Amino acid sequence: MKAKKYLAIALAMGLTVSSFTGCGKKTDNKPNETPVTQGEDKGEKDQAEELPGLLVSKEPVDLSIHLHIYNKFVYTEDWVPFKKAAELTNVTLKGVAPESATDSEQVFNIMMVSGDLPDIITAERQNFFKYGPEGAFIPLNDLIDEHAPNFKQFLEEREDVRRYLTAPDGNIYSINFIPDGAAAQGYFIRTDWLEKLNLPVPKDVDELYTVLKAFREQDPNGNGKKDEIPFIDRAKGQKTIALATLWGAHTTTDRDEWYVEDGKVKFGPMESSYQLAMENLQKWYAEGLIDPEAFTRGAKARDILLGDNIGGFAHDWFGTTAGYNDMFKDKIEGFDFQPIAPPADINGKAWEYSSRPLVNPTGWGISKDNKDPITTIKYLDFWWSEEGRRLMNFGIEGEHYDLVDGKPIFKDHILNSDKPVTQALQDQGIQMQVGFHQDFFYEEQWLNPIAREGMNMYIENGYIQTPFPTLGFTPEEQKIIDEKSVSIYTHVTETTQKWILGAEDPTKTWENYLKALDNMGMQELLEVYQAAYDRFINN
Ligand code: CA
Repeated sequence: MKAKKYLAIALAMGLTVSSFTGCGKKTDNKPNETPVTQGEDKGEKDQAEELPGLLVSKEPVDLSIHLHIYNKFVYTEDWVPFKKAAELTNVTLKGVAPESATDSEQVFNIMMVSGDLPDIITAERQNFFKYGPEGAFIPLNDLIDEHAPNFKQFLEEREDVRRYLTAPDGNIYSINFIPDGAAAQGYFIRTDWLEKLNLPVPKDVDELYTVLKAFREQDPNGNGKKDEIPFIDRAKGQKTIALATLWGAHTTTDRDEWYVEDGKVKFGPMESSYQLAMENLQKWYAEGLIDPEAFTRGAKARDILLGDNIGGFAHDWFGTTAGYNDMFKDKIEGFDFQPIAPPADINGKAWEYSSRPLVNPTGWGISKDNKDPITTIKYLDFWWSEEGRRLMNFGIEGEHYDLVDGKPIFKDHILNSDKPVTQALQDQGIQMQVGFHQDFFYEEQWLNPIAREGMNMYIENGYIQTPFPTLGFTPEEQKIIDEKSVSIYTHVTETTQKWILGAEDPTKTWENYLKALDNMGMQELLEVYQAAYDRFINN
């Protein structure tokens, strides 16, 4: 579904669709005036300020909402936080998205061309950036400024979020879900094997080489066979490729390929550090330090290789990886798979390339057909108040959690139901990933202690690098990305695999590889990213 189609249909239906596209460079830092605040006068504002408690409207108000996200969540009035919020704010949401449909993007597109839009709409950022400037969504900048003190304060503290939400036309069209807890993945090693071989925890890439070599050569599992597979990979080679970070390179694994040096946007797989990494990884692979089936084994690699007592080192999610200690404690004597600090790269820097996203692409905005944007923004701001945030994170006190020493501790029926905790919550609408700020404590209280320690080690020592921002692109830029990216990324992936597996010599083929990328439009892609990054920084 293209923006133009929406515009054409909307025009055909006689709707007023103003286009902000190409309205010239802003002469000051103020976003476009919001036409919809015109109904507000002094009296109304004074009256609003007198409302007691968390009420955002004196009279009960119904607002329609299109909430259909992640191909599985569709708003229902039974959802606990929303029911409670209706009591507290006087605003009740009425869902309009079809529960039977499963494709969120498709449902969104159908709703957009229908012309008559509900008051509140959930969507991905790219859609707000596309339809917002065409007039389908109301710019929120002034509304937030005047009527959303909680979210306004949040944006003042989180510059990265404000930049993320700002469309190329300078306006904010949505309030998005903000995850909490930066640590995602880390390095894990069989510390019982280290002890057995009398080796220290590897602190840098050279020590890591020594350790993996010893795992391979010195029979740490003690079965008399050279069956150890030191580094395991359950992501079809992606984890193996990411070992290149130990030579200071940036790879396509976990969206780490774009990074910035002195204001200049760079593409990791075309930098010389990448070539150096490939030469070394080819050697590691040839010496059996990496699973020979790393590129083919797939998702079960961790279960199989750890369970067979032959895997020794991995890079993976803290939560699930720490869980193997309980799983295998009776099966494998001494099994101890512990998180370790990232071994320092050849430049002496210990860093973690993966991170949780700082902002989620999904958010909610106010449509052009909304008759009461002020009440709506106040309602959306409720979720950023202390009460609203707790309600969406933890549910209702006494029902879903108890306050223990001021901390919301989930009740047993949440923590020990027959479902994963997150699902038990989301089934009731709690932790629904719309415009609210997650509180990591919701997860921390049921996290494996080994995982928690690992995460804290990574956070407290500042190992996790700030991820490259998720940039917003203009339609023209997006077109270049769509045209060039597939062939470029395919070429990088295929060549990288050939290098690591030893089918090609990275030193001999490096120049040709760069030339091929250039022919595929690498320079144009770099220019697009640089332009979008510069805009992001200057927003
Ligand atoms: Ca062995």
